[in-house]
Amino acid sequence: MAAARTPLVAGNWKMYKTEAQAEEYIQALLPRVSSVDGVEVAICVPFTDLRAMVDSARGSRVEVYAQNMHQEPEGPFTGEVSVTMLSDVGVQGVVLGHSERRACFGETDRALALKVPAALEAGLRPILCVGETESERENDDTDRKLRQQIKDDLVNVPNERLAEVTIAYEPIWAIGTGKVATAEQAQEAMAFIRALVGDRDAQAADAVRILYGGSVKPENAAELLGLADVDGALVGGASLDPRSFAQIVQAGAPNEGL
Ligand code: PEP
Repeated sequence: MAAARTPLVAGNWKMYKTEAQAEEYIQALLPRVSSVDGVEVAICVPFTDLRAMVDSARGSRVEVYAQNMHQEPEGPFTGEVSVTMLSDVGVQGVVLGHSERRACFGETDRALALKVPAALEAGLRPILCVGETESERENDDTDRKLRQQIKDDLVNVPNERLAEVTIAYEPIWAIGTGKVATAEQAQEAMAFIRALVGDRDAQAADAVRILYGGSVKPENAAELLGLADVDGALVGGASLDPRSFAQIVQAGAPNEGL
C-alpha cells in the first residue's frame, strides 16, 4: 500500500521583506491557514527575518525555513551562515540547491552532497531543489539532468534517511517566468524522480515528498497539487502575498483534490 504523504506548501520569499514587512505578513497569514487541515506550511525567509519569524510563528502550524546554509558548523567562510547557527535560531528546515543559488552563486552538486546530510544531522528538514533548463528540456536532456542531480546531491544520505529529504522539482524555465509545466510534464518528471529514489530504496520512494515549483499561483495550484506524484508546492512570487499564499495552501489540503 502506498505511504500517506502529508503535503507541504512552502513559500520561498527569496530576497524580499524587511523584518517589519515580514511581521505584517505573518500576522495576515496565520489566521488564513490556521484551520486548513492535512497540509504542512512553511515559509522560507531571508536570514535577517529568521528570528522574528520563528518567534511570531511559534505555536502555529507555520514552519520557518532558511534559504541556504553552509555545510560546516563553523569556520573562516565570510558571509556564510552555518547549520549550527540556523538550529540555534530555531528554524525547522532549509532550502538547498535552489536554481538561483546554483546559477548566480555557483552552488555545486559537491557542496550539496555535504549540505543535505549536514542539515539532516542537525535536525533540519532539507528541501533539495532540482530541475532542468529550457534548453535541456528542448534537447530531451531532462531525465539525464534529474538523474545526475538526484544521484550527486543525495550521495551521502543513507537510504534510511532519504525519505526525510523533500525534493522540489523546479523546471528552471518555469521559475518566475509565468510559464508553468503542463500537468503531464510535471507528473512525468516527478514520477521519474520518485523512480530514481526507488532505484536506491523502494520504501523511501514511497514515502519521499516531491514538491512542484515554478510559477504556482492560486489559479493553477489545484490542478498541479492534484497530480499523483505531487506532494505539495514550492512557491516563489505568489508566496509574497499572504492572501494568495493562503489560497495555495488551501489547494494543497487533501480534501481540495490531493
Ligand atoms: C521558486 O523560487 O522556487 C519559485 C518556484 O518561484 P516562482 O513561484 O516565482 O516561479
